[in-house]
Formats: sequence, structure tokens, C-alpha cells
Amino acid sequence: MKDKITPPLIAGIASSTLALIKLVFGLASGSVAVLSSAADSLSDTLISIINYFALKKSRSTPNARFNFGFGKLEALSALTQSLLIIAAGLFVAYSSIENFIRPRELNLGVGMLVMIISIIITACLVLYLRRAAIKYQSLIIRADALNYEADLITNAATLLALLLVWISGFVIVDALFGLALSAYIIFKAGTLAKTSIYDLLDEALNQTEIQQILDIIKQKKEIINFHSFRTRKSGNINILSVHLEFVPDILLLNAHEVSKQIENEIKSTFGEQKWIFEIHFDTDDDSADELYAENLALK
Ligand SMILES: [Zn+2]
Repeated sequence: MKDKITPPLIAGIASSTLALIKLVFGLASGSVAVLSSAADSLSDTLISIINYFALKKSRSTPNARFNFGFGKLEALSALTQSLLIIAAGLFVAYSSIENFIRPRELNLGVGMLVMIISIIITACLVLYLRRAAIKYQSLIIRADALNYEADLITNAATLLALLLVWISGFVIVDALFGLALSAYIIFKAGTLAKTSIYDLLDEALNQTEIQQILDIIKQKKEIINFHSFRTRKSGNINILSVHLEFVPDILLLNAHEVSKQIENEIKSTFGEQKWIFEIHFDTDDDSADELYAENLALK
């Protein structure tokens, strides 16, 4: 785990290998469940490739044209990823219904063996990605880990379905499992899509984080009040912009010192997160002259 961009690359190689194994043995066993699992792994491969390229770019620093860097590429990639998972979920649902209407003979032994192999490989991958997501504080690697977690459950349930068919002889069990699983996949991907869209729309930091920032500002006796408080995220960079209302007779030197203190306290409170601060010095509440300032007032 040398670099942030390595995890999606390893995940992509692992899932493309799995897709190939599932495709070959899915065809050999005649199981639609194993075949749709192959399609699922194929979409995972595509997702990891997208993630790899997104991370490569989002890591690059701001420049003269893109002044806030490329952090939004992470959210854009996560959105694409979730839409692809929804498509894969719909495919699994379609295959299940087809299997439901026209049940077919399955070679269960081959199907179960390939699912056991998939579970072992995917479990290793999930553990690896989870650790990488924490280490690099990356939304994109977290999304990748979630994706393979869903994959793990899909694989396990597919194995269970094949096992139940083997015990009971009812091929219909396989189709029912497929339907339930696809609903789960679509729900999970929908949640991820929502998070990504909120990120692209520059959602503010969460309430706890905002409260921590406000506590730091309110401690300063030189500051009477504040307005136009705005926060947003771009990849792993947090952006805070605020107008501070200082006591009117303060020296610019001292006001600057206070705002530096605020910046440093925020940085140390939030650990290794990166920050861009845009702090405006006011001597009174001029928010009436500012666009939509009244909408930003915090309760
Ligand atoms: Zn102002």
C-alpha cells in the first residue's frame, strides 16, 4: 500500500479476474445467478478503473485555471459508480425474473465452488480497501470498499441460494434470492448517489463540525459577531468563508492575529484535514448589502 492510487488498481485487477472466472464457470454450470454475478464483477472492474483515474487527477493540486483543485472528481466518480451499480442491480433483477418464468437445470457443484472462491478473494479485498480508505481519508476508496462489501453479500447469498436449491430441489429459490439481492444493491447504490450529488452541490460540513468551528470563533472577545458563514468540501479540502465583525477600534494587526489564531485552532481541532480559509474583516454587520446573507444565518 505505497500510494493512494494503488488500492483501486489492485481492486480492478482482482474483480476482472473474478469476472472472468464467474463468466466461464457460469456458462459451464448454466446458473443465471453465477452469470449475473459475473456481470456484477465486470461493472466493479469498470468502477475501479474510473476510481483509479479520478484519484490520479484529484490528487493534483489547484492551478491557475482550476483554483480549487480537482477534488470534485471524487464525487463525480462516486456518482458514476453508483449509477453503474444500479444498472448492474437491474440486470440481476431481470435475470432473476427470467429464471423465475423459465426454470432451468443447474450444475450446482461448479456454481458453488466458484462462489466460494469469489467470497474468499472479495473478503480479502474488502479488508484491504477499508484499511486504505481510513489511511488516506478518501471518499472514493470508501465507495470502492462499500461496493465490494455489497459484492461480498451478493456472493454469499448466491452461494446460499445454490445450496438451498441443492437441498430442496426448488430452482425457484435461486430466482427469489436474485430479486431480493438486486433490490438491496439498488438501495445501497441510491444512497451513495445521493451523497455524491450533495457533495457536487457543495453541501455544508455536518452540524458537529460547524459547531466546533463556531465554538472557536465565539471564544474570541475581540469578535462581536459574524455573518455570511459558508462551508463546503472539495475532495479532501475543507473550505470555510466567514465575515468576522470585530470591535471597531481594533488595530488591523490585532484583528489579523485573532483570525490567524482561529485558523490554527480549526486546523488542530480537525487533525490532518486540509483547509482553505477566506476570512473577511468587518467592523459592523453589513450583511444587508451581501447577496443571500440572510439565508445563511445559523440558528
Ligand atoms: Zn460582511
